Amino acid sequence: MARHLITSAIPYINGIKHLGNLVGSQLPADLFARYQRARGNEVMFICATDEHGTPAELAAAKAGQPVADYCTEMHLVQAQIAEGFGLSFDHFGRSSSEANKTLTQHFAVQLYQNGLIEERSETQMYSPTDGRFLPDRYIEGTCPNCGFESARGDQCDNCTKQLDPVDLINPHSTISGATDLEMRETKHLYLLQSKIKDQLEDWIDTREGWPILTTSIAKKWLTDGDGLQDRGITRDLSWGVPAQFDGAPWSGMDGKVFYVWFDAPIEYIACAQEWVDAGKGNDWERWWRTDKGAGDVTYTQFMGKDNVPFHTLSFPATILGSNEPWKLVDYIKSFNYLNYDGGQFSTSRGRGVFMDQALSLLPADYWRWWLLSHAPESSDAEFTWENFQSSVNKDLADVLGNFVSRITKFCRSKFSEAVPEGGTYGEQEQALIAELTVKIRAYEQFMEDKEVRKAASALRAIWVAGNEYLQSAAPWSTFKEDPEQAAAQVRLGLNLIRLYAVLSAPFIPETSAKMLAAMNTQDDSWPDDVPAALAALPAGHGFTVPDVLFGKITDEQREDWQERFAGVRD
Ligand SMILES: [Zn+2]
Repeated sequence: MARHLITSAIPYINGIKHLGNLVGSQLPADLFARYQRARGNEVMFICATDEHGTPAELAAAKAGQPVADYCTEMHLVQAQIAEGFGLSFDHFGRSSSEANKTLTQHFAVQLYQNGLIEERSETQMYSPTDGRFLPDRYIEGTCPNCGFESARGDQCDNCTKQLDPVDLINPHSTISGATDLEMRETKHLYLLQSKIKDQLEDWIDTREGWPILTTSIAKKWLTDGDGLQDRGITRDLSWGVPAQFDGAPWSGMDGKVFYVWFDAPIEYIACAQEWVDAGKGNDWERWWRTDKGAGDVTYTQFMGKDNVPFHTLSFPATILGSNEPWKLVDYIKSFNYLNYDGGQFSTSRGRGVFMDQALSLLPADYWRWWLLSHAPESSDAEFTWENFQSSVNKDLADVLGNFVSRITKFCRSKFSEAVPEGGTYGEQEQALIAELTVKIRAYEQFMEDKEVRKAASALRAIWVAGNEYLQSAAPWSTFKEDPEQAAAQVRLGLNLIRLYAVLSAPFIPETSAKMLAAMNTQDDSWPDDVPAALAALPAGHGFTVPDVLFGKITDEQREDWQERFAGVRD
């Protein structure tokens, strides 16, 4: 039995994610996790909310809540939506957990002792009124470039120019409005990534078969310009993992926390500890420590392309630099962006469909199928309502749903609600079984290779093969002259429903469960032996005709939704 550790990029806490976020990490990770479990392998599938940093503080302030309360509430919201989409995490943790705090501090000490963290002095904006150094986003003023009056310390939202807080005209604190800001000297911890650059490069060169999208981004960061830069890993915030703590080999970091991008990936490991703390398991180290059983684990990460630098360089730098036997990633599956109907998804303009809205329109499987079968793998992809409508109506309603409905209803009307007896499989049936065997093996290969779109096409082809058989065997005609032969055809058709339920479960788990329930079976074993799998439901086995599996999307619905989610145009 193979062992698979699977992580999805952890979503940031401030707000509900859109469908583009979903298909760029959590959903394909779930597909892979469900597939590996279905093949009888041992899986640890982990995700969490990424909760530290300035945006969380600002969002909490806007909501008028203490940041810890805000994060607890939003974590619950994201967890419920994830459940609604059938995301089968073994644990959905929180980067603000005690486990992550301890582990982050542990890594920092290790890195320091290995000469990879150093203290550096720099000058930074200080607010005497607020009694603290201000992060860039806590400073606003007039943009020197365009005159916009609410430009932030790091960027002007009006002209998009990247700024330094000292560039701003009339800068003020967004906490108190204080204008008596001054530059003061302060210390920060730096991770000396430049010292690990060669080690990282060697490691990346040994990764076999990584997607070009992943390696090209990593190489660009390693070698462009002056190469991989040392990185400040502390910030002046109160919400985060404290950088000053008992046992810290440095001093003077009071009031500072580790930068969110230092602690967030460490949460992948901490989350497995949370899994134990939650009573769901008892040994997390056999997933993460190569000296404690993780040597035979295959670790796959899923993420959008914007997260690749942190996962190919920053997090591996933390792990390699620790000189401890932590499990490194084996394969990074990265995705391009999903655009929305001729533009981008936009939270601020309410443009596009967000995860909670999607579930209020249609069941998760409709979205899962469309998103996965159109995953932005080789290039950016685009969601349009026309495409969504046609894909759902054709693939799900006409091909899969119709097959299930026709065969079960025909059997009920001509035989009974039980698998009919009699007849034998002839040439046509044997040909179908041979064809399905080839197609199923191809499907398995695409799933192993994490080729999401190709796997979806292969699955669709398997559904289509059954439909074509039904169309050409035409048991409704056969029945008039040879009811025994019609019985054999229907028996094969009913067994195909169970087979389809098993194969389709990673894509459309809810529907798959309905199909198995209608076939009155809990046998969800994988069809390693296709002829045997197509004899799993014997003559006499009772079933029920299920309700319509997929309703069609009407033109009125499509137009209504198109209008509703278009957002406010500028
Ligand atoms: Zn500007």
